[in-house]
Amino acid sequence: MVMSFRPASLSEALLIRKTNDVMVYCGGSDVMIKYRSWSGTPAQFPKDVLYIGHLKELKSIDVNDFEITIGATVSYAQFLQDERIPIEYKKPVEQIGSVAIRNIGTFSGNICNASPAGDTLTMLYALNAKVIVASTVGKREIAIENFITGPGSTCLKNDEILTHIIIPNQKFSHTYYYKVGTRKANAISKVSVFAVADVVEHRVTDIRIAVGSCGPTVIRLKEAEAKIIGSNTSNIESMIYSLLTMYDDKIVPIDDVRSTKVYRSKVALNLIETFLVKELGQ
Ligand SMILES: Cc1cc2nc3c(=O)[nH]c(=O)nc-3n(C[C@H](O)[C@H](O)[C@H](O)COP(=O)(O)OP(=O)(O)OC[C@H]3O[C@@H](n4cnc5c(N)ncnc54)[C@H](O)[C@@H]3O)c2cc1C
Repeated sequence: MVMSFRPASLSEALLIRKTNDVMVYCGGSDVMIKYRSWSGTPAQFPKDVLYIGHLKELKSIDVNDFEITIGATVSYAQFLQDERIPIEYKKPVEQIGSVAIRNIGTFSGNICNASPAGDTLTMLYALNAKVIVASTVGKREIAIENFITGPGSTCLKNDEILTHIIIPNQKFSHTYYYKVGTRKANAISKVSVFAVADVVEHRVTDIRIAVGSCGPTVIRLKEAEAKIIGSNTSNIESMIYSLLTMYDDKIVPIDDVRSTKVYRSKVALNLIETFLVKELGQ
């Protein structure tokens, strides 16, 4: 029999986290599936659980000229309803699961679950997002690409809770998102790409391309991005072969129940080419 904690505040949650070996959860849409049991019986958690999904102090979204700060217990539905969030950043979120999943699922759960197929992750990598983790002794601010250390693993310590996600509030001239799943809804990504770029007078001044489900973590190839920055958009088509070769070397998908590595590689390269040639190059 496991114990279930429901703290009244973040400080109480952090104290429980420090003094007990507990698994933190928010919406439960990953953990309830992972530890599901027979129908009608409780989930079989491997250890005591600390539910924080109700904590009001983590349920707000703050937007200023520089950053969008999302509390750990903000649901996808709350994020989608917020009119201050750019619609381009809502695209990956509105394709997650179903209405029911978006009503309970959170960015913090998606990040801490650390699946390379997590649908918020390509966007967070492309936008250089950071997470804030807290313990009773203080806070750490960590870039998303350093926080996630491998499939299903993060650098979160046993006494820490992820409290906020920070997305720089930067405007881009081009934003692209494409998710390939088995169906239009309730489908985990086979491949996904989130990309942004800034083009000023036909010259690329900034570009970031993040590829999901094609390696142990989301892939961003900063060498390729550096090669594109400074280029005239009319030259990108002539660079495409060497750029796609760079991505092809880095993309290392697996065969699994959802897709094959051959399919994933091909589709990922097609999506990158679509963004570079069709979206930027015209
Ligand atoms: C039917 C269905 C469809 C789905 N479709 C998609 C989809 O299309 N795309 C997609 O990406 N995902 C999908 N998912 C997976 C899931 O809904 C998402 O990953 C969601 O974002 C998880 O959020 P959560 O709050 O429910 O996480 P939880 O289940 O609460 O937690 C997930 C993990 O994160 C840890 N954790 C959660 N919050 C914190 C915190 N604040 N601090 C420290 N650790 C924490 C937990 O210990 C656990 O390991 C689907 C799931 C289901 C059941």
